[in-house]
Amino acid sequence: MLYIVSTPIGNLKDITLRAIETLKSVDLIAAEDTRHSKILLNAYEITTPLTSYYEHNKLSKSSYLLKLLQEGKDIALISDAGTPGISDPGYVLIKLAKENDVAITAIPGATAFVAALTVSGMPASSFTFEGFLPVKTVARQKKLKTFEDGKKTILFYEAPHRVVKTLGDIKDVLNDPIVVCARELTKKFEEVKQGKASELVEYFSQKTPRGEFVFILGSHGNYLS
Ligand code: SAM
Repeated sequence: MLYIVSTPIGNLKDITLRAIETLKSVDLIAAEDTRHSKILLNAYEITTPLTSYYEHNKLSKSSYLLKLLQEGKDIALISDAGTPGISDPGYVLIKLAKENDVAITAIPGATAFVAALTVSGMPASSFTFEGFLPVKTVARQKKLKTFEDGKKTILFYEAPHRVVKTLGDIKDVLNDPIVVCARELTKKFEEVKQGKASELVEYFSQKTPRGEFVFILGSHGNYLS
C-alpha cells in the first residue's frame, strides 16, 4: 500500500492520529527533505527508515519505490509541508503507482491553500487553486489576465522574494483588486493581510517579506472592502 500522508504546514501539532500510526507502521517513509522531516518524526518518536524523494530524483526514485511496493512493502509518502502531490513532486510517484495498480490511500490533513481560503473571508464554495504562477514576468502577467472575469475565488502559492513583484503585476493587470496574502499560517509569525494590491505593494515593500505565502483573489462582487 502507498499511503499519502499529510503532515503539518508549520505547527507540529497539526498532524492526525492516523498519520502518526501510519508513519510508525509502514516499512519506509519517502520524504522530500529527510533532515527537515526528521524534526517531525523525532517529535512523535517515529523511527521508521526514511528515504529521499524530491524534485530532482523523482523519476528514478519513483521506479525504485514502485518496485518495493510491488514486492509488498508499505510506503508512506510525505512532503516538506502539507499534503503530498499538491504543488510538490508527489504527483509523479502517485501517478506511477496508480498506473501499476498499486493500492493507494490518503491520510488527509493540512494543506496550505485550504487553510488560507478558510481564513480569507473570500467565497469558498467555488474556487480555483493555481499552484505556483509562472516565474517569468510575461507568462505570469498572461496567467493573471485569465483571472480577469472574476467568476471565482483564485488561490495560488508565491515565493517570498516575488511577493512585491506579483502584487505589482496584479495591480496592473487586474485593475488593483482586493487581495488577501496569508503568510506563515499556523506559525509564530502568521499574518493574514488584506488590502488593494497597491496598498499591499507598499506594505510589503517596507521590509522584505519573509516566509511562505498564499495569495487569494476574490470573485467580482464578493471582494472584501
Ligand atoms: N504540499 C503543500 C500543501 O499541501 O500546501 C504545498 C507545497 S508547495 C512546494 C510549498 C508552498 O506552499 C509554499 O511556497 C507556500 O506558498 C505554501 N505554504 C506552505 N506552508 C505554508 C504556510 N504555513 N503558510 C502559507 N503558505 C504556505
